[in-house]
Amino acid sequence: MHERSIAELIAARAAGEFSAADITAAYLDRIDTHADTLNALITRTDAAARERAAALDARADGALAGLPIIHKDIFCTKGVKTSCASRMLDNFIAPYNATVVERLHAAGTVTLGKANMDEFAMGSSNENSFYGAVKNPWNLDFVPGGSSGGSAAAVAAGLAPAATGTDTGGSIRQPAAFCGVTGIKPTYGRVSRYGMIAFASSLDQGGCFARSAEDCAHVLTAMAGFDERDSTSVERDVPDYASQLTGDISGLTIGLPREYFAEGLEAGSREVIDAAIDQMKALGANVVEIDMPHTDLAVSTYYVIAPAEASSNLARFDGVRYGYRCADPVDLDDLYTRSRAEGFGPEVQRRIMMGAYVLSAGYYDAYYLKAQKTRRLIAGDFHDAFAKVDLIAAPVTQAPAFPIGEKADDPVAMYLNDVYTLPASLAGVPGMSVPAGFVDGLPVGLQLIAPWFEEGRLLNAAHSYQQATDWHTRRPPGFE
Ligand code: GLN
Repeated sequence: MHERSIAELIAARAAGEFSAADITAAYLDRIDTHADTLNALITRTDAAARERAAALDARADGALAGLPIIHKDIFCTKGVKTSCASRMLDNFIAPYNATVVERLHAAGTVTLGKANMDEFAMGSSNENSFYGAVKNPWNLDFVPGGSSGGSAAAVAAGLAPAATGTDTGGSIRQPAAFCGVTGIKPTYGRVSRYGMIAFASSLDQGGCFARSAEDCAHVLTAMAGFDERDSTSVERDVPDYASQLTGDISGLTIGLPREYFAEGLEAGSREVIDAAIDQMKALGANVVEIDMPHTDLAVSTYYVIAPAEASSNLARFDGVRYGYRCADPVDLDDLYTRSRAEGFGPEVQRRIMMGAYVLSAGYYDAYYLKAQKTRRLIAGDFHDAFAKVDLIAAPVTQAPAFPIGEKADDPVAMYLNDVYTLPASLAGVPGMSVPAGFVDGLPVGLQLIAPWFEEGRLLNAAHSYQQATDWHTRRPPGFE
């Protein structure tokens, strides 16, 4: 069951080969066997999933009827714990569904559980979770990437055909690369942020993981679209992305930004990316080198803007309205201070302090305002690039997954890991990670980036590559 594509699952169910209850039972078995090894899930919703599948079998409807899915624990799920992997929300049962959850539900999906992640989506390794680190199915001593590491590991290990994620600075693309699955971060505004716990609102964007671009296309079609409850969601029709997968990329011009292939890119990963680009050429794409001169500003820009927005968004967790409250506060100040000190982990506290600092009177102009200007320059690089090319290809990361613990005490080393994913987030353009090979048994992802709202072109390029290669079909040993 877990080897079938989404289209095959849906078709087999529609043909009566098996029921939604059968599919759900098969995936719950996989979860029984593997989820604890990986620490991929925070919450399991087995009973609700079984009930839901049975109800769908009684009255089948929806484009994805019967499709099991795992949601990143950043998406509110009605009646189900929604923790954002934080002690702060360990006791939070969401009273409503995020729009993404609602839409997928309307399409007929069956929620199997909530995926582990970095606390409040801050991190690149999934080590910043109140519920403990997630393990990479390709090597259990290595990180799965973050912040959507539980979602990526779950799909890689075949615990669900698809999972949702969010990407603020790389949190879908980077774990997809580290776990050898396909992940798409849509254009900012394509997917509603309503009910998605806010980290950095000008950057946060929901997306998905699956085992192929084709599978992602099915899920994204159901997730995307305007939502009047998110003022930044864009009123623009959602195409049926799967119908745009012609597999033909002949004549497409792909730009390789020199800055993404410079010093820092590990040799083995570079070979994998070079081979992937040769494959795109063989499929008929024209490949040209381009310059994106402000790329080196992305890390410093992002690590001002994202913490600034986080410090504002996380002010609501004060121990009064909801979430964690410290025991026996002596006065209001003590209640605020201790609830936040005990409820937030160290990385979240670091971000709040950085954010409050760069927004403070006296430093605002030098940091926050300056970062807004450099963000504009980075977006300008993409405008200029897309005047010349149809798509950008690059690595997702400088190297494959690193060992658990290696960067845990070095926040700067961890932040530098995001160097190739942050620019597209700052510009708001859609990006993907596509499995492209291995270095020492660990997956390497090819990053493809398209102009604003060209998810169809992006998915089609990835699909075309996947028609010609089999990297996306490889399974981690022990999780076949
Ligand atoms: N790794 C980046 C950070 O820690 C990006 C995280 C994300 O995209 N949510 O902020």
